[in-house]
Amino acid sequence: MQGSTIRACHPLGAHRVLEPAGAMPQDAWRIDNTPVAGEREILCEVEALNIDSASFRQISEVCGFDSRRIGDHIAATVRERGKQHNPVTGSGGMFVGRVLEIGETLHGKIDLNMGDRVASLVSLSLTPLHIEAIHDVDVATGRVWVRAKAILFESGIWARLPEDIDEHVALAVLDVAGAPAQVPRLCSPGQTVVVIGAAGKSGMFSCAQAKARVGSTGRVIGLVHDCAAPSAQLLAQAGLVDDLVEADASRALETSGKVEAIAPQLADLVINCVNVPGTELCSILCTRDGGTIYFFSMATSFTAAALGAEGIGRDVTMIIGNGYAKDHANIALRTLRDHPELLAYFNAKYRKGTTT
Ligand code: NAP
Repeated sequence: MQGSTIRACHPLGAHRVLEPAGAMPQDAWRIDNTPVAGEREILCEVEALNIDSASFRQISEVCGFDSRRIGDHIAATVRERGKQHNPVTGSGGMFVGRVLEIGETLHGKIDLNMGDRVASLVSLSLTPLHIEAIHDVDVATGRVWVRAKAILFESGIWARLPEDIDEHVALAVLDVAGAPAQVPRLCSPGQTVVVIGAAGKSGMFSCAQAKARVGSTGRVIGLVHDCAAPSAQLLAQAGLVDDLVEADASRALETSGKVEAIAPQLADLVINCVNVPGTELCSILCTRDGGTIYFFSMATSFTAAALGAEGIGRDVTMIIGNGYAKDHANIALRTLRDHPELLAYFNAKYRKGTTT
């Protein structure tokens, strides 16, 4: 890769694909991560990565939850692929950083200036990333502090970091922005909604949006690993769920039986926000015939979901959680501002220096 005046760029980043030929940056095995902005690219100095939860959990398990080994694992993936694209889960994450260079074709065409602080809203699984050093890995949050550079393509979306919310909190929220933006589209007043993995990041936002939408005549059931966990307690105390159910979603019959015991008609909508594989059947069994399942989880298997529903003869609509929805960043940040209890929880958990 030469300088910005030399190389012509495809707006979707196809010019960065090294192999296989014909692939796009997301499905490519390897992309060119040379840290120089082409004429339609934005070069950013990266300070922190927020690794996708399903990916981080898988890496952590392989590395024995050891922060140094996790860091080495991430550095090796990026060296090999030119991007943080977990080959097992297929997922990436996001970064937070500062604009260093703007390709000349984009000058005056985008609302960004050198030095602006941004969070990427496109996945690390397609973002050219060049890591110079990994400073620290926070095993509790999946946050990785780095000295690195990344490229945003012309088509890439980003969010300017808000002034009223800590930027590391913002990064955690923006990572899952698709969920709070899409949940209100999927439910309506009076409905029963089950959120699986309710005590995680996207789960908490999904509960908040679902409860606001179904209203007092509807019901939100939060399915969590541990009802005593602070995030689960917060959901109940802030009225973001009507019921908390303690269960393991990988145990489909046992868990759906607990849901059926309190909601015999089952859920109109199930939102799956877990970070582990093997919960498709639980989601299907918790959903009424004719209902909808929103698989936000990156650990979802299309095969398990399609064949699982067929196998038990449940006619449900299954939706893949698109990472992008119009205005999703603003909706996610607004959800946080509208819920001071969520903001306090996220501040305590994700603000830099609060967990490591
Ligand atoms: P998170 O904060 O780590 O939350 C995951 C939650 O799932 C945790 O509360 C976890 O509980 C719970 N969980 C795990 N295994 C469970 C089980 N067997 N039964 C019940 N609960 C279980 O994750 P997140 O950041 O919200 O992300 C959630 C999912 O969305 C991940 O798969 C992530 O990859 C995906 N994601 C999707 C998009 C998209 O665009 N579609 C974007 C970002 C993330 P414990 O902590 O107790 O294990």
